[in-house]
Amino acid sequence: MTSPTRPADPVRWPDGHRAAAALTFDLDAEAAVLYAHPFARHRMSVMSHQSYGPLAGVPRLLGILERHAVRATFCVPGWTALRYPDVVRSIAAAGHEIAHHGYLHEPLSDADAEAEAAYLDRGLAALESVTGIRPVGYRAPMWELTYRSPGLLAERGFLYDSSLMDADVPYELAVEHGTSIVEIPVQWALDDWEQYCYLPGISGTGLIESPAKVLEMWTLEFQALHREGGCFVLTNHPFLSGRPSRAAALETLIERITATGDTWIAPLADIARHVRSLGLTPRILTPPDPAA
Ligand code: ZN
Repeated sequence: MTSPTRPADPVRWPDGHRAAAALTFDLDAEAAVLYAHPFARHRMSVMSHQSYGPLAGVPRLLGILERHAVRATFCVPGWTALRYPDVVRSIAAAGHEIAHHGYLHEPLSDADAEAEAAYLDRGLAALESVTGIRPVGYRAPMWELTYRSPGLLAERGFLYDSSLMDADVPYELAVEHGTSIVEIPVQWALDDWEQYCYLPGISGTGLIESPAKVLEMWTLEFQALHREGGCFVLTNHPFLSGRPSRAAALETLIERITATGDTWIAPLADIARHVRSLGLTPRILTPPDPAA
């Protein structure tokens, strides 16, 4: 075990690949809005904005992924899986990974240990009942992990989390009792929420960005990470990036990533298994003490 402030080690990618890329889709549907704004269940138009994801966005995105023979990771709240079981089963049947994304998309920042464990267990039960597969990956709603989350995930046999932001490559994150989980970092600049989300009275600045600008921004970040041998993790929401011009921009990005010829495009679970095989020394992350 080493210092909590030690940077993540470089990662050697399989089969001579220079860098890695993961396309991830957070299939929130109505869940995120319902938890944060319970009364919004009566706002029919708001609910329809969210249901666009599973109903119209997912089929379009699955078509794009199939055209490019790319397998992705879909992070799904348990509630969403129960509401749209056929959609979630169609994603799994196409060969994509289903990861855990809470039950009703509950942010963990206000949860105590008991509540956090209950969200995990309820989400696991829902995803298993719909897909028949126990997920190995977790992404915290709103990327709000707590310092106890890694231990709760390890207790339940999770292989990896993808919610933290302190590295450009995955790493082993130490948990108690000498075990670890793999962490696959994300970043806000590679999330479509900040680019496209506008819901009156709920979220967004009101500025809906052009897919051309978003494609440029994500391409630049991919190219720079590729040069450095990093891991490009893109987070899209089907209710946002499933819209036609945005999905078209995403397809162009996939073509650019594929055209490098030396980028390993894989679901998060495959990336986590590779990182686990490297035997990296786990990093210890503890809450900073402002009084120290
Ligand atoms: Zn989400």
